[in-house]
Amino acid sequence: MFTYLFLKVIIMKTVTQTILFTGLLFALTATANIQLQPGISGAWIAGASGQGIFVNIARVNDQPNFVVTWYGYLNDQQIWLIGSQPFDYGIETLSVPMTITSGTGWDTNFVESDVIRNAWGTVTIDFSDCNLGTMQYSSNDANYGSGSLELTRLTGTDGLSCHEETGTADSIAKQSLAFMREEEKLARDVYLKFNRDYGQNVFSNIASSEQTHMDSVLNLMYIYNVEDSSTGIEGTFNNTDLQALYDVLIDMGSSSLSDAYLAAALIEETDIRDIEVFSEGIEAEDILTTYDNLLCGSRNHLRSYVSKYEAETGTTYQVQIPELASEVADILATANEQCGT
Ligand code: MN
Ligand code: MN
Repeated sequence: MFTYLFLKVIIMKTVTQTILFTGLLFALTATANIQLQPGISGAWIAGASGQGIFVNIARVNDQPNFVVTWYGYLNDQQIWLIGSQPFDYGIETLSVPMTITSGTGWDTNFVESDVIRNAWGTVTIDFSDCNLGTMQYSSNDANYGSGSLELTRLTGTDGLSCHEETGTADSIAKQSLAFMREEEKLARDVYLKFNRDYGQNVFSNIASSEQTHMDSVLNLMYIYNVEDSSTGIEGTFNNTDLQALYDVLIDMGSSSLSDAYLAAALIEETDIRDIEVFSEGIEAEDILTTYDNLLCGSRNHLRSYVSKYEAETGTTYQVQIPELASEVADILATANEQCGT
């Protein structure tokens, strides 16, 4: 027990230092363009109302895709061009090969196999902010030629925000997402292991809740252009501090069910502490709302594990992170909460 406690203190300090240190590591990046991101999805007017593009950042085979549809006119006839290009988050400009189609008829006269797809050329798109962009085009058809159009946003996607680069709070927010994605995974992975070892429903139930938390952090990572930090493999982590913490926790819970409940309660205390530290440096409302929801879940999880621990051992649970003593006492003195809406 002494060894575990000693290791725990070392690891907890390292995790804390990582959080505080990475919070200071951001750098202001002055760029002419914003990064391609889900928030640029919407309708954009190209030069004048009546012609323009629809942009959709779509996820296809776990890869972001820039899907663009250009509507315009040629010789009095309506023209639609379509294109799609996979890309990785972090870039600011992208060339998309465009296609023009012909060869079949309207509605019941439409024959899928008759559709002819002709390569039209490429468009290269960038955005100077969340409302202005530029589209250069180059067609291999002389009727269209090449040129450049200014894009002005007409509509966005309801509920999806666009983010321009990047101040202090934004960088801390992004780093917190990368960290929290893996910390929620750490909780899930430890509970999956304990569920296999001890076959208690509380572990599998809370593991599913942690999966939901991982998913909600990932959703924010899409919105904020943060690359997924998860390895996708149970028990492995990109963050070396979280990897070390996982190994300690698995070891800590390996000798008995009551030790597993203690390790699980320590995870929830750690989660509560880390989310509260991060939330102090973040202004983005959508991230804060998600973190509040994660915190609410952690309070419920802590209540469950402590109640299981006390039933198993017949002893009173002692808080494991000293600075949380009064907060944990308050949590344990109150009833389970309904989290989220
Ligand atoms: Mn959680
Ligand atoms: Mn939890």
